[in-house]
Amino acid sequence: MEPQFRSLRDSENTHQAGWIEVVAGCMFSGKTEELIRRLKRAVIAKQHVEIFKPTIDTRYHIENIVSHNHNSIRSTPVSSAKEIILRAVDCNVVGIDEAQFFGSELAEVCNMLAFSGKRVIVAGLDMDFAGKPFGPMPELMAIADYVSKVHAICMVCGAPAGYSYRLVNNNETLLLGETNIYEARCRTCFHQSEVLPPNYES
Ligand SMILES: [Zn+2]
Repeated sequence: MEPQFRSLRDSENTHQAGWIEVVAGCMFSGKTEELIRRLKRAVIAKQHVEIFKPTIDTRYHIENIVSHNHNSIRSTPVSSAKEIILRAVDCNVVGIDEAQFFGSELAEVCNMLAFSGKRVIVAGLDMDFAGKPFGPMPELMAIADYVSKVHAICMVCGAPAGYSYRLVNNNETLLLGETNIYEARCRTCFHQSEVLPPNYES
């Protein structure tokens, strides 16, 4: 559930800190859609929202966060997490997408933003294709005030899925792509690598 316990206006008036929300999950779990949903509600409330993503993710339009269902919102590509601090000075709410591609300094950056009174909403892959914690996500999930794990549907058996299974034989951690490269899988189907996808051709 989205945290709704405090208002940013209250925090501004009393000089209290903001907070950090993390939306984590595998590919096709709807994390970007959830990030956009929270940000759009903040925009409706006339809060000043800025959205950032790493320049590395250029699959789609460079200045838009675009989720897989084409529900988009304009964003600013940044080359490092520290750049977010400079560019987010005037805003109440900071959205960060594809957080797993930022360096380890992202957690400290999010802490600084929250201490300065901002609401920080971070979305990212919690695990890489090998099922290992991805980039700064574990630290972010530890320091966050609120963590939401979202799930996809296992494309093999239909159970709730938390893993991003790579369909091609490539060991690079960074391999961007969509349905032709990855599919969502549950714990059982992810670890049973002999379970081939329905459309697999040997
Ligand atoms: Zn499964």
